[in-house]
Amino acid sequence: MIKNPKISKIESIIEKIQTPSYVCEEALLEENLKRLQYVQEASGAKILLALKGFALQDTFYLVRQYLQGCTASGLHEAKLARETFDKEVHTYSPAFKESEIDEIISISNHIVFNSFSQWQKFKSKAQKRVSCGIRINPEVSSAPVALYDPSSTYSRLGVTKKAFKEELLDGIEGLHFHALCEQNVDALEKVLRGFEKNFGKYIPRMRWVNFGGGHHITREDYDIKRLVEVIRDFKKRYNDITVYLEPGEAVGWQSGALVASVLDIVENGMQIAILDTSAEAHMPDTLAMPYRAEIRGAAKAHERQYTYRLGGNTCLAGDIIGDYSFDKPLKIGDKLIFEDMIHYTIVKNTTFNGIKLPDLALLTKDGNYKILKRFGYEEYKRRN
Ligand SMILES: *Cc1c(COP(=O)(O)O)cnc(C)c1O
Repeated sequence: MIKNPKISKIESIIEKIQTPSYVCEEALLEENLKRLQYVQEASGAKILLALKGFALQDTFYLVRQYLQGCTASGLHEAKLARETFDKEVHTYSPAFKESEIDEIISISNHIVFNSFSQWQKFKSKAQKRVSCGIRINPEVSSAPVALYDPSSTYSRLGVTKKAFKEELLDGIEGLHFHALCEQNVDALEKVLRGFEKNFGKYIPRMRWVNFGGGHHITREDYDIKRLVEVIRDFKKRYNDITVYLEPGEAVGWQSGALVASVLDIVENGMQIAILDTSAEAHMPDTLAMPYRAEIRGAAKAHERQYTYRLGGNTCLAGDIIGDYSFDKPLKIGDKLIFEDMIHYTIVKNTTFNGIKLPDLALLTKDGNYKILKRFGYEEYKRRN
């Protein structure tokens, strides 16, 4: 089994970093990719990168050496996949548009429809040119919060058992489900049981099954051995059918940080540090999920001697990253390293309040700090 020691080297180049900046560490990203490659080799499954969570195209020279292609959620992601990754492109969308479907078909290998009405609508165009699948809703909820649970009540994502139309299956070559979020293999097993109970009888007519994303394969405690067994067992039961996994988060998991600086420190009942980043604009999941970003060398409020509330540099009152404590007082100009900020951040960023988008940078395996992209006023202007 591949070890995943995850040793970050950002501190070695911290002086050079102009903040705010996302710094992806090539070596850590490659460790993730090697783990995923191990799963592919041991299980026989094919793994795709879900661009929704990680689309850092300047790392694709590396990612494409390990993964089979990309999963796209519509025309723009499919185009990026075709232009920059150029292996398999699998496109799913809750609803495809008439005006975009021809281009999507021309650059995709697989298309997954969200309903039988969409399948009926686009069947004649798609059928002969791409492998078509249908997304089903296994109706097994296990995601941690409703915002990220595709099987929640009244979900629009995927066909339920009740809405399934066996008589319209002709031409469908694959079944797709996506029901997990940051989960271990026990959750996959639960979903698979529900999926097979309701839809198992259709699998022998298929060429492939896509297990979606949400598999936290690169997390230290993920049971890779069990995942390999589950996939092998599934393939054995269905005549060696092709199995796809399409994680996003697991590819970028703990592969880098967001580095920000302290701009000012004010006092209002407590010490408040204002940073050159923003929860709202640069780390939206801290507010949406919500989750607490880890900061290197810091702890929860009051666990260490000096506690600060960390706020973003926007006018939104709730643009608060959280309360953190440090061994030494913070000073203006100090740099803070927010851990694990490469997935579901860059892809979601906004220029809210005119705040500058952070640089995208790479810490290469040989220790060089490389700025991939720098943003400015133009990004704000064009989007408003
Ligand atoms: C979000 C999503 C993924 C990727 O999920 P992760 O949690 O990032 O692994 C894969 N497939 C579909 C259909 C998705 O919506």
